[in-house]
Amino acid sequence: MVVDARALADGTVLRAQVCVIGAGAAGITLARELSSRGLDVLLLESGGFQRDEATSALYEGVVEGADYPSLTQSRVRFFGGSTNHWAGFCRPLDRVDLERRPGIALSGWPFDLDSLQPYYERARPICGVSTLANDWRLFNERFETGEALIDDAAVRTRLTQISQRRHFGPQYRDDLVTEPRVEVCLWANAVRLALAKDGGHIVGVDCATLNGRRFRAEARHYVLATGGLEVPRLLLASNDVQPEGIGNGNDLVGRTFMEHLTLTGGALTLGRGADTLGLYYPPGPQIEEVIPERGPTAVRILAMLSLGRELIRREELLNTGIQVLPAEFLPLFDSSEMPGRVQALARWVDGTPTSVLGFVRLVGEQEPNPNSRVRLIGERDALGMRRIALDWQFTRRDRESLLRTMQYFALELGRRGLGRAQVAASGFVPDRLDEIGPLADRGALDFKLGMGSHHMGTARMHASPRQGVVNADCRVHGVANLYVAGSAVFPTGGSAPPTLTIVALALRLAEHLATRAARAQAVPGRWKNKSEA
Ligand SMILES: Cc1cc2nc3c(=O)[nH]c(=O)nc-3n(C[C@H](O)[C@H](O)[C@H](O)COP(=O)(O)OP(=O)(O)OC[C@H]3O[C@@H](n4cnc5c(N)ncnc54)[C@H](O)[C@@H]3O)c2cc1C
Repeated sequence: MVVDARALADGTVLRAQVCVIGAGAAGITLARELSSRGLDVLLLESGGFQRDEATSALYEGVVEGADYPSLTQSRVRFFGGSTNHWAGFCRPLDRVDLERRPGIALSGWPFDLDSLQPYYERARPICGVSTLANDWRLFNERFETGEALIDDAAVRTRLTQISQRRHFGPQYRDDLVTEPRVEVCLWANAVRLALAKDGGHIVGVDCATLNGRRFRAEARHYVLATGGLEVPRLLLASNDVQPEGIGNGNDLVGRTFMEHLTLTGGALTLGRGADTLGLYYPPGPQIEEVIPERGPTAVRILAMLSLGRELIRREELLNTGIQVLPAEFLPLFDSSEMPGRVQALARWVDGTPTSVLGFVRLVGEQEPNPNSRVRLIGERDALGMRRIALDWQFTRRDRESLLRTMQYFALELGRRGLGRAQVAASGFVPDRLDEIGPLADRGALDFKLGMGSHHMGTARMHASPRQGVVNADCRVHGVANLYVAGSAVFPTGGSAPPTLTIVALALRLAEHLATRAARAQAVPGRWKNKSEA
């Protein structure tokens, strides 16, 4: 059922067992999964089914710190959220990403990769990619998609699957609209989470529309699924009971904002023909598979390299994806110095028939840094809510890790006699290229970094409220019935694009809420259904 919030009478109260705020990848997944488990859901969405200028303007904010696109460009505010624009790249996190890593402060998820695997399996078809795990061998066996260039303990090949039917809005709109257990409330902006006087639970969500209506949503449980920048905004803006904002007793909300760092890492020459690199070169092989609930679905796959887990841990590196691209892609990226270097590199290779010239594109993890953050500013939007400033910061380790990953990759390539690579990070060449190891005393590492519109870490997950905003169940510490879905909860970001993990975590959260509901139902009066709530 769909409700247009603009037509509600002032003071209306909408009720359900679970109120999900935000209909992006996380919110849509939660609403579908919770309803399939028998729970009544109210899905509040700021926009309609199409983009709308005034609604999009609610996302405006200020960019401070490192260069970043405007906050309306890097996210989308209508039904389907940023999946209305995303590129559909899906890859699970690596095992090392969830581990507590030596030298990386604040690293470590409260569970390991094995605990996420069952949810990744279910998340893949939801995102429109193959049910096969992202392992090149499985695809090669079944679809003859090609062999890996390298895949061993030091340098690994990982597949990214690229969804071709990826926009969650059009894909799942009909499911939700016709599902009797779901009420989709469009044009409904959550402007305040109403916290009980004792701070222990949420009693309602105050909502507003751009045509001036004010109403409330009430539920047994609330899930904030408004994206990595808007989650901290709502938590911080809901400050009438706790002046520092909800879940912010330890000043963690909005901090440790992380992105994926993108750059050209250097030039490359390989002693193999381009015809053997089909797995790595865009657009990558296309396969077709019958996917549960979606039917025959075309999916592209694309391989990326990364350093092995032991090397990453031993060298205290951040995890970085290493993409091998043919030279003709270079003009697409910002690296004016590269063509000359590629040519020079080709001349260095002795005795190897250098049939492929190319370059490396890196996608780097950022270390969690409390100074990289989202905060509220004085300026207000059309609904009276304070806007945010994004102060994106890099650390020296962020940059150094990219250079050292590229160095190790070059070394491993040469050792195997596969080719040569030269570090030139967006044109920046460190002094002593031949020396592998920490670059600590070598002066400024000044090179340009791009990003992926991936907003992570602003309500991080940790078992302790001193180190995390939410616990391992994604529940806000200290608040019995408030949860967060989305990449805001990622304690670290790895190098994989976030949405497959967002969907996996949403499925995990739905299971948790359904279990809580079932337990509560066993106690009379503790969990009412929609008509009784
Ligand atoms: C250009 C681009 C390319 C991308 N490519 C990829 C990719 O290839 N792979 C990948 O994994 N990721 C990619 N991403 C990121 C991906 O889109 C996000 O990770 C994903 O959409 C996040 O899902 P979400 O549900 O957490 O948040 P969102 O998609 O941001 O959804 C949040 C929803 O909440 C609603 N909302 C916000 N505030 C309120 C409020 N106050 N009240 C009610 N509703 C509200 C919004 O309208 C929106 O519908 C890309 C992003 C962009 C912009």
